[in-house]
Amino acid sequence: MHEMSLVAEVIKLVSEDANERGIVKVTSLVVIVGDLSNVLPEAFEMAFFYLRKQSRGVVDKQTELHLIREEAKAKCHACAQEFVPDYRIALCPVCQLPQSELISGETFRVESYEGCDAK
Ligand SMILES: [Zn+2]
Repeated sequence: MHEMSLVAEVIKLVSEDANERGIVKVTSLVVIVGDLSNVLPEAFEMAFFYLRKQSRGVVDKQTELHLIREEAKAKCHACAQEFVPDYRIALCPVCQLPQSELISGETFRVESYEGCDAK
């Protein structure tokens, strides 16, 4: 489950950033997960709940995780139709050409976090 190392990495990055800002405890964390990002939201959540129990860095068992799903979206180059693709290479539902470009769904990033400077 690569989500475990992903969560560990996210916690490490947030901890480093928080330390620089004098934040000692992160109360909530917002992460954007695209439907095509190869990250399973359920697995990511499970890994987070597991790791936060160990109070790593500024994240502890009270830190809330908010996952925002980003829907996969593609746009056809031929007719400009926007649609939800099943895969990375998808046929346009209007002209049936595989000339589409993904415009969203691949995002995986920490959007924001909130914390306080005293425990
Ligand atoms: Zn089209």
